[in-house]
This record gives sequence, structure tokens and C-alpha cells, in this order.
Amino acid sequence: MLSHEVKQSDALLDLRSYVGRFAPSPTGPLHFGSLLTAIASYCDAKANHGQWLVRIEDTDIPRIYPNSETHILSCIDAFQFEPDAEIIFQKDRLDIYEQVLEQLKQSQDIYACQCTRKMLGSNHIYIGTCRNLNLDFANQAIRLKVADQLICFQDRLQGQQCSNLQQDLGDFVLKRRDGIISYQLAVVVDDYLQGITHVVRGADLLDNTARQIWLGSLLGYPSLSYMHLPLAMNDQGQKLSKQNLAQALDINKAPELLQQAILALGQSKVELDQPRIMLQQAVQQWDVNSIPLGIHLAGTFQ
Ligand SMILES: [Zn+2]
Repeated sequence: MLSHEVKQSDALLDLRSYVGRFAPSPTGPLHFGSLLTAIASYCDAKANHGQWLVRIEDTDIPRIYPNSETHILSCIDAFQFEPDAEIIFQKDRLDIYEQVLEQLKQSQDIYACQCTRKMLGSNHIYIGTCRNLNLDFANQAIRLKVADQLICFQDRLQGQQCSNLQQDLGDFVLKRRDGIISYQLAVVVDDYLQGITHVVRGADLLDNTARQIWLGSLLGYPSLSYMHLPLAMNDQGQKLSKQNLAQALDINKAPELLQQAILALGQSKVELDQPRIMLQQAVQQWDVNSIPLGIHLAGTFQ
């Protein structure tokens, strides 16, 4: 365990070249909110002469929505995003996550938890019931130990963010009882293995970040730079999400959607053209300081 406060520093990042990523989950088709994230991560990487990678986060197999993986890949094609490496799929990498779990077992940072949903009840903070029981790992949930200390990072848009995981959350799950590897574990391991330096994603993931920083620090991984984009809201003030059935991106309207999304990100207008050309112009004009704190959309793009 680290005894000092875990802090993110941007100073070291400047010495490394920029590697960014777009990492959608195929739990539904891509929607306008996903397009904002794709464009922002792409333009920020390219404006900083960096690389841009794509990773499909499909470890949660029961939640995968039929054909959404195909839709994601056809969107990347239709919007003419050009990843700088082959697209990776997390479901092909389960043995890698298992190896990292073994490493965390050796360092005694994880333990097996037999608590059922019923035992946990409505309490959202896990109080460490199984922490010292030394249960066998087979067929149990696996939790990561957290410490009573503040984890802080400087988000490029949202400013300073701090969280005490023990007080806010408790030891959290890295592998579920049904064998599913958690989002937290797969993200941290793959960001490290892909050499990611900069994370640009939606603000719905903001409160996952402290968990990921903590896990990364236990594994000795370098820290990352974070930028969490404001969530796009529809006319009714609901955030665009798969849960409230945001409309799937229509690949036949790629230039129009791209133009709208670039404007929604507060960037200068890009004329309709081939998506590749529009993206090049958006990269040249890219200005993080123009990204609005809130994004409200007219009816068409819900
Ligand atoms: Zn437990």
C-alpha cells in the first residue's frame, strides 16, 4: 500500500508522446454522445501529434447488445476515423486480466468476497466484511482493497477532483462471481498495455477515475492525463445514453452528423465534405478551451 497521497502530475506526461483512445462498449449502438467522445478524443490526439487507438470494451458479455459491435465498426469506417493500430477487443484478452489478478493476489491486494446482493443490501459502501476471511478465490467475487486516503487528479475540463475510496465506496469488485472481469480492471490494464497517456471520455465515467488511478498505482503503472467531456443532453434535459434509447448514429448521414457534433463541442464550423477532410479541418481548428461546460441538443439528434 502507498503511504503517501496519490496525486496525478501532468509534468511527466509532457515527456511522453501522446497516445489517446476511443473505447466504446457494445452495450448499444453508438449515438450522438458517443460521436462527441470519438471526435474529441481523435482531435485532441491528432492536434497534439499523437496516436489514436480504438478498443472495444466487451467483457460484460451478458450486457452486449445484438449487432452493436458491428455498428461501432461501421461507424468508425463511415466517419473515416483512422485508428493508428489494429482495433482490440477485450473479450479476446481475458487471460491477460487473469494474469494481473494473479499478480494482485500475490501482493495481497485482492481477496474473495462471498457476500450476496441480499447481504450487501442497499448499502453502497462495502464495509470489508470478507477482507480478513481468507476465502478461496474459486466461484467468488474478487475485491480490491482500498485505503483511507485521498486520491486527487486534475481533470483538464472538470478541474481538481478528489475522492477517498474507503469512505466513498469501500473495497470494489474486479471480477464478479459469474466470472465477468470488471470494467475497472480491463480499462486500467489495457490503457497501460496500449501505452495510453491521455484519456478523453464522457463525464459519466468521472467517478470511476479514482478507482482506476488507485488500481494503476498498485500495479506500478504510470499516471494518465484525464479530460471528461460534458454529457450531451436532449430537449427534456436527459443525458443521451443507451439507457434512454438515444438514437443510433445513421452512417448515411456521416458528414451532417460530424458537422453538428463538431459545433456541439464548441469548435469552429467545418464545411460539409468527405468525413476525412472534415476531421482534418477539425484537428487544425481544435481548441479545448472552447468546449462548453454543458451540451444541449435540438430534437434531431436525440
Ligand atoms: Zn464480502
